[in-house]
Amino acid sequence: MKDKIKELDNFFLPKSMAIVGVSEALTSYGARYIQALLDFGFKGRLYAVNHNGENVLGFKIYRSVLDIPDELDLASICVPARFTPDILRDCVKKEVKAAIILSAGFSEAGEEGRETENELIKIAGQGIRIMGPNCFGTYCPKGGITIVPGGGFPKQSGVTSLIAQSGQLSEGITSRSFGEGIRYSKVASYGNACNLNEADLLEYLMRDEDTKIFTSYLEGVRDGRRFFATARKYAGKKPIILWKVGLTGIGAAAAASHTGSLAGSVSVWDAFFRQTRAIKAGTLEEMIDTNVGFTCLPQGCGRRISLVSGGGAGTVVGADACESAGLIMPPLTPETEAKLREVLPPTGTSIKNPLDIGNPHPPLSQFQSILETVASSDQTDVIVIRRIFFSIKVSEIFSGTTAPSREEQQALLDIPVNIKKRFNKPVVIILPEEITTVENIDLEEERRQIRDFFFKNNIPVYLNEHRAFTALSHLAEFRDASSLEQAPERSGIAETPSKGRTILSGIIKTASTPVLDEIQCKRVMKEYGIKVTKPVLAKSKDDAIDAARRIGFPVVMKIVSPQITHKSDIGGVRVGLKSEADIKKAYKEIMKAAKDNAPGAVIEGISVQKMTEKGLELVIGMSKDPQFGPMIMFGLGGTLVEILKDVAFRFVPLTGQDAREMIRQVKAYRLLEGYRGQPPVDIKYIEELLLKVSRMIEENPEIKEMDINPLIAYGKGAVAVDARIILEEGAVR
Ligand code: ADP
Ligand code: MG
Repeated sequence: MKDKIKELDNFFLPKSMAIVGVSEALTSYGARYIQALLDFGFKGRLYAVNHNGENVLGFKIYRSVLDIPDELDLASICVPARFTPDILRDCVKKEVKAAIILSAGFSEAGEEGRETENELIKIAGQGIRIMGPNCFGTYCPKGGITIVPGGGFPKQSGVTSLIAQSGQLSEGITSRSFGEGIRYSKVASYGNACNLNEADLLEYLMRDEDTKIFTSYLEGVRDGRRFFATARKYAGKKPIILWKVGLTGIGAAAAASHTGSLAGSVSVWDAFFRQTRAIKAGTLEEMIDTNVGFTCLPQGCGRRISLVSGGGAGTVVGADACESAGLIMPPLTPETEAKLREVLPPTGTSIKNPLDIGNPHPPLSQFQSILETVASSDQTDVIVIRRIFFSIKVSEIFSGTTAPSREEQQALLDIPVNIKKRFNKPVVIILPEEITTVENIDLEEERRQIRDFFFKNNIPVYLNEHRAFTALSHLAEFRDASSLEQAPERSGIAETPSKGRTILSGIIKTASTPVLDEIQCKRVMKEYGIKVTKPVLAKSKDDAIDAARRIGFPVVMKIVSPQITHKSDIGGVRVGLKSEADIKKAYKEIMKAAKDNAPGAVIEGISVQKMTEKGLELVIGMSKDPQFGPMIMFGLGGTLVEILKDVAFRFVPLTGQDAREMIRQVKAYRLLEGYRGQPPVDIKYIEELLLKVSRMIEENPEIKEMDINPLIAYGKGAVAVDARIILEEGAVR
């Protein structure tokens, strides 16, 4: 079988390539593309195609790809949208392996464009992979391929890859990152993603040996489920840094019109990041800073920071930034403190963590022993250095003729490098612009040289405390991610269906509406190991009395009708019924309420069930996201939760870790642990229950929505007293 993912090599490492839409006019996009490839040094076989013209930039112009006397790995198409289907059909005939469609004017532009794009999708089904349309294509130094304008992009390969739907941002992000010293293995601007999408590219780049860091500017996703599953599978193996935009209402609307992608709601993406441990970057700077961090420290880092500062004031800024990023500054051990006292004067310093060494230009031997002492402490995971004058020019401004010599200055720069090597612990430097007096361009140039020197030695340099600690927090998250629990690999429907599946299939076969009643829902749920109060259907008062006698008082009575999903809203629930008289009265009242408040509803009867003891009311629900599929919700039941929206979401399938974490994520978790006289509930049991619900959802794709509201939780166990399942429209005939 062909490896569909490995085939994407054709987009990045083509041996032969045709540019379609290259007129003799050198201003045409196609001609600029060829020029960029020549400037960049494309080593493969290159062909130009156009409907007219003879020669361009020394290349013969072929009328069609079919006329090219060579095999083609890739065709890059830049002709007006309406001509693209015909050209793509020629490519299929020619057995071209991959096509990049750079032209715009497709689904992002309106109905006509959407139709043309649908045509492309159909043609792709005949055996060609398409990137785009409406994109800039790929940049890959190893393949000698670049985007337009990218003829002058670095030819040196790096360890980062970037994918973005947007062409302009792929170019913008890479350009900004180049300035920070980042080099790329592969960049893809994949536009409207009509065929090749983010999930394909993620999988390809996770498997790509040249890519160690994955970054993306992400508006929306085409295949959320696969993107999610792939990201989760590679958690902790390669950093996945996502600059996710469109998380606000207006941002989402802009994204929808931009690349025709749905941006997804905030809680959906919250679940995504929590379950995959992908790194969420809020801004371009954060993405670049984190990328710089991983380039120097590919394994990530621990959370315990030792901050060494050449001056006191900023230590507070550092400590604040450290803590708000979720990192720790552990206090010095008595031994470390004693050793530091030996080398530092008692006045003008502050011997604790953060450490103020007083002098921003410390004597070499003193600086050396300070860092040695801090690095050798087993309380230190990372050494962060701030406000040390690594700049000769700054030293001269501050110290005039007493400034150290160039040799001494170089020796100062070497100290952190040697410490990093000797102790094998990450060293990070904060080198703010103000130390170089921002307006002085010479000093800024020198700052860059210092930054590059450290970067070459795998020491990341940041502009301020906030940016440094934010990036470090992501490096620490990555290290934790390697222990993320993986979901079991299994298909949705088992070969021999479970009893629950069989019962639901039976219900579906005879169902006349997609809404199941409480009795049906509970029959199914019970088989998945969910404890329920069993409702018994009564068609008359006498039926109800009989049922209550068998069940034992007290009981609850509820209306049974597929049209009435919120039973108490119409007066269809009576609780705490203790006698036959109560039952008679309740029966009459419920029937009347149903007639008055839900006149059109088909009433199947009234159910009678055991009234359970008081406990903590919780809710477990499931709904489907258009991109990511089923997601389970957990929260506190009752009306308050609707106002507070104190709920947590996770995509199916849940792992044990997902279940544990989602319960602890809700603010009401403290109530579950027991609070002021209210006893604790059986949290372990609820964790298991969430997994059972997840299993039920996995096995029954026809379920569109479901909820257990309330689930009543006790010190031991929990019971579902109400249940609701709605099937997909298509599932019911
Ligand atoms: P709906 O949500 O359709 O209005 P429910 O079946 O959830 O109807 O009933 C409403 C409320 O009645 C529940 O939130 C719960 O507090 C209570 N209740 C329902 N069934 C039982 C039961 N078997 N035992 C105890 N309380 C119940
Ligand atoms: Mg309910």
